[in-house]
Amino acid sequence: MGRIISIANQKGGVGKTTSAVNLSACLAHVGNRVLMVDIDPQGNSTSGVGVDKGDVDQCIYNVLVEECGAEEVIVETSMPNLDVLPSTIQLAGAEIELVPTISREVRLKKALEEVSEKYDYIVIDCPPSLGLLTLNSLTASHSVLIPVQCEYYALEGLSQLLNTVRLVQKHLNHDLVIEGVLLTMLDARTNLGIQVIDEVKKYFREKVFQTVIPRNVRLGEAPSYGEPIIKYDARSKGAQVYVDLAEEVVANG
Ligand code: ADP
Ligand code: MG
Repeated sequence: MGRIISIANQKGGVGKTTSAVNLSACLAHVGNRVLMVDIDPQGNSTSGVGVDKGDVDQCIYNVLVEECGAEEVIVETSMPNLDVLPSTIQLAGAEIELVPTISREVRLKKALEEVSEKYDYIVIDCPPSLGLLTLNSLTASHSVLIPVQCEYYALEGLSQLLNTVRLVQKHLNHDLVIEGVLLTMLDARTNLGIQVIDEVKKYFREKVFQTVIPRNVRLGEAPSYGEPIIKYDARSKGAQVYVDLAEEVVANG
């Protein structure tokens, strides 16, 4: 059964989608069978692996709201070993449509149970909120990977996220653990980044990944070509660090 990892942080622009796409692709690159699940209505990770949202007739909305089978919605990407459960803007309505439904927090968990045998890793790209979509993701997951941007106020909002994780552990998913905190978009030219790293390490200790993701122009460019960094520019620093991250995640077990 595949190990299911949520990439979550309710702050936007911290590197969730970039990390979901590139961790998935790097895990697949070394031979793991990987499913990336896009549960953000913006659908950026769907297009980030080269799937045109305009060509998708069923998406994760149909799985969550209409209980359509995940295997009917999953599509292959152009990378070997990497499939995606795509999202489209239709998903924006799900947060409200799910409210009055039975077992609304376990819809994704149930759907992934049907397909998890086929994968070694399932990586879920969460939206920038702590609503029902993120709750579905955390409920379905073995662990949560938290990207934190190396910026002022890096820790702001994290207590809210950790509180949500605790509530999910208590009521919906006892076994959920923190996979790790990933420092992203480090600008090595400033002292600020180093200060943030110290601050985050003081708080999260051994839970912080050794791998730190620097700001890298190629990482920013790759999505507009619909390619993970390992395909777009395998020799870039950005590719190298996401390969390192994938190794750490595999070593975590
Ligand atoms: P989130 O999913 O948390 O909103 P994204 O992964 O979409 O964050 O990142 C926000 C923006 O920053 C995107 O335009 C993305 O391409 C860019 N970006 C993310 N990580 C890096 C990085 N390490 N170097 C350069 N640009 C990055
Ligand atoms: Mg995103």
